[in-house]
Amino acid sequence: MEEDCTFCKIIRGEKSADFLYQDESLVVFKDIRPHAPVHLLIVPRKHIRSMNDLTEQDKEIVLNMILKAKEMAKKEAIADSGYRLVFNVERGGGQYIFHLHLHLLGGW
Ligand code: AMP
Ligand code: ZN
Repeated sequence: MEEDCTFCKIIRGEKSADFLYQDESLVVFKDIRPHAPVHLLIVPRKHIRSMNDLTEQDKEIVLNMILKAKEMAKKEAIADSGYRLVFNVERGGGQYIFHLHLHLLGGW
């Protein structure tokens, strides 16, 4: 856990968010500035700074994130129409929050 990390604060309950799902491995909440009619963030509880910091030990976490994204797409009724799953990596890749997260975008 990182003191100043926005997503760690949300996970700790120190900052509010619109949660749609939580388990021991990850949380899912709505993006505060949506770029699509459905814009969710799939966020592991473990503070991993970016995709570049992933290790072999994190394999299961990432797999869980992707499977949960697929499940959430179905729940939000955008699975058939289609959606995008996006990892922004580092500043040049558009990453502003340095706690690994997967964007689920759809519903256009
Ligand atoms: P990225 O650019 O990949 O780092 O994405 C960070 C995302 O987090 C952006 O789409 C922001 O709109 C979103 N975001 C930032 N702060 C919050 C917050 N407090 N609650 C929900 N989403 C947030
Ligand atoms: Zn964090």
